[in-house]
Amino acid sequence: MPELPDVEVFKQYFDATALHKEIRKVDVYPAQVLKGITEKEMKLNYQGRKFTGARRHGKYLFASMDDNRWLVFHFGMTGHLKYFKNCNKQPHFDRAQFSFTNGYHLVYVSKRMLGRIEQTQDVDRFIRRKGLGPDALGEDFDLTAFKAAFADSQSMAKTGLMDQDKVAGIGNVYADEILFQAGIRPKRQMKELDNARLDILFEKMKAVLKTAVDCRADVDQFPDDYLLPRREAGGVCPKCGAGIKRIKVSNRSAYYCPDCQT
Ligand SMILES: [Zn+2]
Repeated sequence: MPELPDVEVFKQYFDATALHKEIRKVDVYPAQVLKGITEKEMKLNYQGRKFTGARRHGKYLFASMDDNRWLVFHFGMTGHLKYFKNCNKQPHFDRAQFSFTNGYHLVYVSKRMLGRIEQTQDVDRFIRRKGLGPDALGEDFDLTAFKAAFADSQSMAKTGLMDQDKVAGIGNVYADEILFQAGIRPKRQMKELDNARLDILFEKMKAVLKTAVDCRADVDQFPDDYLLPRREAGGVCPKCGAGIKRIKVSNRSAYYCPDCQT
């Protein structure tokens, strides 16, 4: 599922491809990918307009239009964006297509159709309405804000990191890497972590997410001591060589090293 680093890469891709080009035509198939807007309104609102910028918060991508509206992309389990000219390169499972007057197309691809496109006039209000906490890589989300977010937490460490109300952007996969780098087991209670462990957890959260963005969210490019390229049953810990364990945490699979994480 696309998490913060993946969506940041989508944002960079969007910035590099789709901005300041006139949208000639909008197609949506099927309409279930839309939420709070109809296909007819999509055509009415966006044909003839241009994307002027993009912003990311957590796992959401916001695309601003030249009339102060924003389109909101959420990528569900498998979503991504593709920009192309030749229709032979049209991806399968495209759910919404923006065709520009320059002959290129931007498509929103969602194989399992769990992602959604919405629109808003006010990004900050949208974020509040969804109950999203601060963005994990946001500059204002500093150590003090991090500790405050988890001060009264009754959650396990992994569940807490994935709680979008507390901090937006971390999902099942990156929570495992952050806890691996911090040396904390997924089932440790947040409230059991002392100040020094919280300092480390915060530092590793920022470092892992930044590193992943720098690697364009491609696990093959990750540093040698990262868990994600080996995050599977039977995997070997890149730090100590022990076998990676898999357990269930809040009904999701969590992977950790029993020797490196306490
Ligand atoms: Zn280990």
